Amino acid sequence: MMLIDTHCHLFSSEYADLPGVLHRARGRGVVAAVAPGVSPASNLRLLTLARAHPGAIWPCFGFHPEHLFLTEEDFQMVCAQVREHRAALVGLGEVGLPYYCLADAPDVKATAEAGRRRLRDLLGLAVDLDLPVSLHAPHETAAEAFVLLREAGVARAAFHWHKAPEEATRRILEAGYFVSVTPEVCYRQRDRQLVKEVPLEQLLLESDGPWPYEGEFTRMTTEPWMVGLASNAVARIKGISLGEVAEQTTRNAARLFGLDVGRLPAPRAWR
Ligand SMILES: [Zn+2]
Repeated sequence: MMLIDTHCHLFSSEYADLPGVLHRARGRGVVAAVAPGVSPASNLRLLTLARAHPGAIWPCFGFHPEHLFLTEEDFQMVCAQVREHRAALVGLGEVGLPYYCLADAPDVKATAEAGRRRLRDLLGLAVDLDLPVSLHAPHETAAEAFVLLREAGVARAAFHWHKAPEEATRRILEAGYFVSVTPEVCYRQRDRQLVKEVPLEQLLLESDGPWPYEGEFTRMTTEPWMVGLASNAVARIKGISLGEVAEQTTRNAARLFGLDVGRLPAPRAWR
């Protein structure tokens, strides 16, 4: 039984002991992580990490839409990086639309517009280079990101840590895109309800580490092993076996990101 963490920011300084992080993950059956970048520096760091841990870390390059400190120059640099390193990448992400940062933006309209323009450019790049997209598009931005995906002709995308009005979710699923849930699914009703509504064939699991969680995860550093607990919660919510959840979500992740399943490390143990 194997699980894949489809969104973990493994470049983070909170993961100084990366071999330990990967070891603990394999102990819970989480054999690999798709690792999205958020900036020029984090993107390049991921290349190094992926080379050091082949099969366990699968890099995506991205430009985080909520990071107000990133400049237009950074954006152009990320686009150039994606083209240059296409062969080493399994996806484009984390990319998306600004939402939370708009509360702090000096010019909300300009920030929202720049976000839309950049996402449009990045989705064009994804289509050009045949890369799937790991999207940050929370709440009301999900419907807008969906329209941009369709306009750009993006076929493969995941709405990471999905949270959106029902109508937007319905259209996202009808279009065949994936949505993912985090360890929040262990304790938060909103996410548990989402799992009920999403077919297992379109569901992905992720940690979004090092983002911190509550409930049983309070004051813990978020790591990929927590995807093991998320998979347990999904099995209980859907009333199916853990094996079914693991098999289908791993198949989903491999299909979306084009992962070579033969290169995945074996799980260390399974309890
Ligand atoms: Zn993220």
